[in-house]
Amino acid sequence: MNADLAPAPSPLALARAEILELKPYEHAAWEPALERLHANELPWRSSGDATLAGLNRYPEPQPRALVERLASLYGVTPAEVLVGRGSDEAIDLLTRAFCRAGADSVIICPPTFGMYAVAARIQGAAVVRVPLDAGRGFALDARAVLEGAGGSVKLVYVCSPNNPTGTLAEEAALLKLAGALAGRALLVVDEAYIEFSGAPSLARHVAAHSHLAVVRTLSKAHGLAGARCGTLIAAPEVVALLRKIIPPYALTQPTIETVLAALEPAQLEASRQRVALIRAERERLAAALQDIPGVERVYPSVANFLLAEFGDASAACARARAAGILVRDVRSQPGLGRHLRITVGTPEQNARLLAALARPADEQGAAP
Ligand SMILES: *Cc1c(COP(=O)(O)O)cnc(C)c1O
Repeated sequence: MNADLAPAPSPLALARAEILELKPYEHAAWEPALERLHANELPWRSSGDATLAGLNRYPEPQPRALVERLASLYGVTPAEVLVGRGSDEAIDLLTRAFCRAGADSVIICPPTFGMYAVAARIQGAAVVRVPLDAGRGFALDARAVLEGAGGSVKLVYVCSPNNPTGTLAEEAALLKLAGALAGRALLVVDEAYIEFSGAPSLARHVAAHSHLAVVRTLSKAHGLAGARCGTLIAAPEVVALLRKIIPPYALTQPTIETVLAALEPAQLEASRQRVALIRAERERLAAALQDIPGVERVYPSVANFLLAEFGDASAACARARAAGILVRDVRSQPGLGRHLRITVGTPEQNARLLAALARPADEQGAAP
């Protein structure tokens, strides 16, 4: 038999049978031209309601204008877009749709973002760890991932650029992995920081790779963490499946309106300029950190944070805090026993952090 002639396996073959069969909640029809006497809402706005649509109304589920705007932002079709409350919601929905409690598992590549494992545990799925290769600058071990992806594994998470190492996985390696995983597991590439890298997103490859899903967020480069808006880009059948299980009115009306306004061309241009500033600051901060005694290593990063190894990470953390600055202690992560993750801030914040870390130990805590 010629393998080339075999139909591509559908990613839905990996999904939980009860989710495939689920009849979703039927939310109130969205027909804005008609009077709404079908949803038990109050007919009046309350005072102070400055939204365009009115907070007395349930919002549009998967708002069409927002889905279309995000599809165009990410260069994909609306049918490939699921919009939810941050990427965290996409990760949660994927886990619940694909992993049977007590039976299935996910692969994560530590050190990495914590939510993949947390979502798996909440669902009762096992977590299989395939560590990044610390000896090769935290590179993805694609061969080990593929070897581990047998049997119960349904989802494989790769964070690129990776949090907290700041490293980008090679596009060719990811595409090859997605192809090799077809029929076995869905490759989920979390691109929360891709805008800071200058590298293209894998989103444009989702159409040709049924077992590739890409997670994007407005929380980082777009400066909208408080709005809670993230996007899953996946095969239309996967998006349709997750639309069945997302809570009926997941996005609030203020979020929908705020995000649409923030994605206007002028706002996007301002956002690109802020990203350019952060990238320049990242390089400046990395170089300056490198020169501070007690900083043993600063890893190259393509994200908006730096991973650094310290002779005494807890002392460095305390110095930053004494200067009124929080940095992230990542020492509980495998291979990062002496490391901190530092978000790139404004030039002023970065200068303050550098000054705090550079101050000799005997001046610590001295009155100003
Ligand atoms: C910050 C971050 C996100 C963003 O999560 P949201 O829920 O969209 O705010 C996603 N993935 C990683 C790796 C992150 O660091």
